[in-house]
Amino acid sequence: MSIPRGRFVTSASLNRLSRVSLAIVITSAMACDRPASDSPSSASSGEMPQPAARDLHSYGNPGEVVVRHLDLEWDVRFDRRALDGTATLEIERLSESADTLRLDTRDLSVTAVDLTDDGQTWSPTRFVLGDADPILGAPLEISLSTGATSVRVTYSTNPNASGVQWLEPSQTAGKQHPFMFTQSQAIHARSWIPLQDSPGVRVTYRATVRTPTALRAVMSAANQADAPLSGEFTFEMRQPIPSYLIALAVGDLQFRAMSPRTGVYAEPLVVESAAAEFEDTEAMMAATERLYGPYRWERYDLLVLPPSFPFGGMENPRLTFATPTIIAGDKSLVVLVAHELAHSWSGNLVTNATWRDFWLNEAFTVYLERRILEEVFGRARVDMEATLDRATLAEELARLEPPDQILHVDLSGRDPDDGMTQVPYLKGELLLRLLENTVGRARFDSFLRAYFDHFAFRSITTADFVAYLEDQLLSEVETGVVDALQLDRWLEEPGLPANAPLAESDALTRVAGQAARWAGGEVTAGALDTAPWTTQEWLHFLTSVPDTLTADQMRELDDAFGFTQVGNSEVAHLWLLTAIRNHYAPAYPRLESYLIEIGRRKLIKPLYDELVKTTDGRARAEAIYERARPGYHPISVSSIDDVLSR
Ligand SMILES: [Zn+2]
Repeated sequence: MSIPRGRFVTSASLNRLSRVSLAIVITSAMACDRPASDSPSSASSGEMPQPAARDLHSYGNPGEVVVRHLDLEWDVRFDRRALDGTATLEIERLSESADTLRLDTRDLSVTAVDLTDDGQTWSPTRFVLGDADPILGAPLEISLSTGATSVRVTYSTNPNASGVQWLEPSQTAGKQHPFMFTQSQAIHARSWIPLQDSPGVRVTYRATVRTPTALRAVMSAANQADAPLSGEFTFEMRQPIPSYLIALAVGDLQFRAMSPRTGVYAEPLVVESAAAEFEDTEAMMAATERLYGPYRWERYDLLVLPPSFPFGGMENPRLTFATPTIIAGDKSLVVLVAHELAHSWSGNLVTNATWRDFWLNEAFTVYLERRILEEVFGRARVDMEATLDRATLAEELARLEPPDQILHVDLSGRDPDDGMTQVPYLKGELLLRLLENTVGRARFDSFLRAYFDHFAFRSITTADFVAYLEDQLLSEVETGVVDALQLDRWLEEPGLPANAPLAESDALTRVAGQAARWAGGEVTAGALDTAPWTTQEWLHFLTSVPDTLTADQMRELDDAFGFTQVGNSEVAHLWLLTAIRNHYAPAYPRLESYLIEIGRRKLIKPLYDELVKTTDGRARAEAIYERARPGYHPISVSSIDDVLSR
């Protein structure tokens, strides 16, 4: 998923950006997260993927009976905001005496559970839906007969399912048809499918989805772009994936091919601009394959969602889900595509076994994302990203309590979404860069390539990674050099070790110098040399000016650069933050429309955080939120409810 970081890329002048109607934003992905585990056991290296470490965020018992395949069948009921149907789970017993299958659920209405020995004859069995835990949902315990090979659960989802968002036509680009989409990471798959909802359990799946006839369904599976709008769609996911990567969307969707193996699904009004924005996707895939080995998922398509999508992107395999806020008109925010594409190796292919190991997914993905950007767009851009991210990480570390500054974070008793800070992304990336600097790029690249091969289609713990690293890379390095890495400190302690690689960008240093000259009164805003600035440089300028500005200074910036009306959603975000901080009333109407139109959590939460710091601001936040809340995704609603209840 994309996460809370904001990054941009590209070079578009602010003037160009301001003519673009869609905002931009980006972030890298953060995905949802999950559980923590205590006693990591490693993934075994057998032919079939084995259940990984005990996952504190799942009730499942994959160590006894593990689910290997799902057959899903749903009616998509927009009238009741529900999926009605069945999930048929093919099971394998790892313990001969096992007589119970335990699944995760949240807010599901289960009406029947049946068993079969032969796939033909079904008979009802006893099941118990336990008490619901606020974080984990409710366990579903199913009694197994001795010969049962599959379990069929008949159920409906709740209209408020945490992993499903139902949109009115008014919340879409086209305004004519409803839209629904899922977001399973971290532990939301259980709110729309009863299953062993742990990233340590991998399944293949098939699905049949019935929809209103004007609409198209797509999934994180083999999609048939030319399937007629018959009201029924079928899907097959042949590669085993963890539950958090199962995804479904239904809406007025069209497809545009970008290359023989890449394309875009989006609403008709958006599909052409999306295909133009993302046309470098094939080049990014080719670059990644050169570095880290073959793409193993056949196709790579993108689905552009309505603006309420709470994240920048979600790396659903074969079909990345993306926010429309990255369609800037100038490719300035396609770093998000690089990030989600990189997850095809780090995360989707080699997966964190529990949510405690989330940094394995995201650190490798940020590292790969940077390497892709360097290949396709050059080093200067990466230097800017790295420099901005270093500052972002410093702010995040200053905000977080020490236990949450740890890569191998303890999430016992907590929602895995709590672990989705900048730490697994940015601190983790610094560790990988340190390793690269220590052994040299060529050696580190061949290590990474072998790592993806070795653990392909498996879910691993931090301990598995460390063992592999020591065996395959550090064993060839002098002891003193290995000791100097302080690997254990990086993984298990808060803060940032002193050997963290530095980042430097000449371009951003110049921007900071210009901001200082303006703030010091040496030069007017209109006289600043901003013509060549990229999105990153604009962002750096806004973070480099003093926190407190006078009304005259705010007006001067706005007059010179048109910040209040800027189309780039990331630049607009930082400007609105500056406006709230400095009580700049001319930006308030834009603030309101921004918060109502966009539901991406990374872009809206900091604005609410800043608003509630004053009495006036809180009143404004509450008034805006009353109008905005019905359009937000449950994940964003939960975050903003939290801000306003403080
Ligand atoms: Zn990510």
